[in-house]
Amino acid sequence: MSKIPAYAAASAKAPLAPFSIERREPGPRDVLIDILYCGVCHSDIHQARDEWGGSIFPMVPGHEIVGRVAAVGAQVGKYKVGDTVGVGCFVDSCRQCEQCRAGEEQYCSEGMTGTYNSRERADGAPTYGGYASRITVDEDYVLRIPDGIPLERAAPLLCAGITTYSPLRHYGLKAGDKLAVVGLGGLGHMAVKFGVAMGAEVTVLSTSESKRQDALALGAHAFAATRDKDTFKRLAGSFDFIIDSVSAPHDYNAYLSLLRTDGTMVLLGVPEEPAPVAAFSLIMQRRKLGGSLIGGIRETQEMLDFCAEHGIASDVEVIDIRQINEAYERMLKGDVHYRFVIDNGTLSAAA
Ligand code: NAP
Ligand code: ZN
Ligand code: ZN
Repeated sequence: MSKIPAYAAASAKAPLAPFSIERREPGPRDVLIDILYCGVCHSDIHQARDEWGGSIFPMVPGHEIVGRVAAVGAQVGKYKVGDTVGVGCFVDSCRQCEQCRAGEEQYCSEGMTGTYNSRERADGAPTYGGYASRITVDEDYVLRIPDGIPLERAAPLLCAGITTYSPLRHYGLKAGDKLAVVGLGGLGHMAVKFGVAMGAEVTVLSTSESKRQDALALGAHAFAATRDKDTFKRLAGSFDFIIDSVSAPHDYNAYLSLLRTDGTMVLLGVPEEPAPVAAFSLIMQRRKLGGSLIGGIRETQEMLDFCAEHGIASDVEVIDIRQINEAYERMLKGDVHYRFVIDNGTLSAAA
């Protein structure tokens, strides 16, 4: 074990600051990864500020990891030194329950082991994420980054990418469907790209009028400002699907009213406080309300390969680790275009 540089939150009220952690030496099935880039997910903010409760401190966030294999254990068969790989939101699960066997490890009945803010199954030690220079992960929870995707633009695919790809597949988005994406941030902009690639007619619903041109440049067919109340009258009953990626409290009923008969709204965003849903919002047009949590390892690999095939990658603003607190503040204001990605090479200078 050797000490490596990282950035951590010491408590829910503390800004992130330099911190030193240890990573385990690779066991027989482990891959040791030199982290090149790590995306900044809004879930990092929710957890670093303990907005969902139960956070473990000190916390090294980060679950959109891309790097290069530096060493492998004796039994590792899938990866070799020098390979470009990714790690997403979890690094282990029970491997035996129905969900794990079905490749849906994120719904493991024992609970997946989160990449950070979680505990190792073996010894209960806290897990530390990708705001660090290296990570050691069991090969079964490592993804292969296909050639052709710029690495800094690949990192956000490991959470924002799979989180939006999976529900569009699971709930059955079809070519020609009308899809609304609520919230044009890290998740939202990936939902737009996937929706367009799957042949849907995509509308962005945003609180930020300033994102109109960007939404259209990302491939959306239309943009509507949700601060304009007329939008909800004009678009009432018009969508087959709504993907809701909003991180802050908002009125679900207002968005449900935009679904047509039998339409489906999928919640991805996890605001700090619960919000009421009126039964009438669902009953009147036989609407459905669902949720979705990231995606399993197999589907994450499928999504990465889909991205390579369709020329899809995240739109990013690369930052020095020393800008991380500023990036959090900008995300809270919706000022993100459309994912901050840490250049992990800056960690050694910041330590
Ligand atoms: P993000 O990049 O910060 O984007 C969130 C967007 O929501 C903002 O850019 C903004 O878009 C919109 N928004 C913010 N405040 C709003 C408000 N008060 N009313 C309406 N819209 C508002 O965040 P993200 O990384 O995409 O994550 C979004 C949410 O998904 C977070 O809660 C995160 O924890 C959650 N998440 C869930 C999963 C899962 O598996 N289900 C996975 C990852 C993340 P506009 O400027 O366009 O309005
Ligand atoms: Zn995430
Ligand atoms: Zn399991």
